[in-house]
Order: sequence, then C-alpha cells, then structure tokens
Amino acid sequence: MSEPEFSERDWRRLLSSLGEDPDRPGLVETPSRVAKAWKQWTAGYDQDPADFLKVFEDGANDYNELIVVRGIPVYSHCEHHLAPFFGKATIGYVPNGKIVGLSKLTRLVDCFAKRLQVQERLTTQIADAFQTHLQPHAVGVVISCRHACMESRGISTLGEDTITSAMLGELHTNPVLRAEFFARAREG
Ligand SMILES: [Zn+2]
Repeated sequence: MSEPEFSERDWRRLLSSLGEDPDRPGLVETPSRVAKAWKQWTAGYDQDPADFLKVFEDGANDYNELIVVRGIPVYSHCEHHLAPFFGKATIGYVPNGKIVGLSKLTRLVDCFAKRLQVQERLTTQIADAFQTHLQPHAVGVVISCRHACMESRGISTLGEDTITSAMLGELHTNPVLRAEFFARAREG
C-alpha cells in the first residue's frame, strides 16, 4: 500500500486534541503502544481465508448432518466510532466432503473481525468465505456482540447483545434445518 502509515506522531496529535499533555509520564509511551495495538486490531487486512481454509481436504466420510460450533470469540472494532465490539460467533454447516477444525473457524472469524467492521457485514463475510472455500451444502453464522459505542453513549443498555445471522444453501431454503441450527446455537 502506498498510503503513509499512521504513525506515533499522529497519536501524539490525537492526545493533544483531547486536551492532554502527550509528554506527561503516563502518556509518553502511549502513542507507540496504541500504534502497535491497532496493528494487531487490524491484522485481518493482511489475511486471506483462502490461505488457511484451502489446506483442509479432510474427508467427512459422507457425514452429512449439521455440525454446529459455538463460542468462537469475536473481537472487532466498529467502523463508525473505532470502538470495540465483542462477543461470540456460532457457525453451523452441513459438509460436502470437507470439514474444518475449531482453530480454522477461529481464524476465519478473526481475519474478518480484525478489520474495521459493522457486525452485519462481518457476519455475511464469514458465511460467504466459508461457502466459497468449503462448498458445504449449508452454512449458517450467528454473531452476538456487545458494542462499546452503543453502551457507553446510552443508546443500548449495559450488556445488551446485538444478534446478526447469515444463512446460505440448505440453511437458507430449509426451515426445519434452520430451526435445528438455531436450537443448537442456543443450547447450553
Ligand atoms: Zn459504532
């Protein structure tokens, strides 16, 4: 990319604009710390799901029932306020010869979550990438997150979750399968 990197100097300027003294002891290291943190929080721009999903050719041995994986961590930042939103994702799918382990699903979620996002797009991108690279008979994604930008400004109450979902293939067309998915997503 040709754009200049957002540097420590820019974070110093931000601190000044908030009315802070960037040279006071508590803040001296902050610009470099924040710059590093944002590199991690946006590391997804350098990741391509094809790189870690294509290696999985595990035979599913004709397993063609719904697989549901819950509790996949989501940590992202909203593109409107740069505030964190975080929670859990559930991914359900009916394999078509390829199954994936939990670590791959975590990486899949992470590679889209570690970009500036809105929760709706994050949900759709995960489902679409899963569909593209694993061609399952069905895939569904449900994400439940708390949004710091909404809670801290009183737009939603503390601890309130926003829930989004995306259903593709048989999970889109078959209401019985979809009901089973949502029931299993809620279990526990
Ligand atoms: Zn926001």
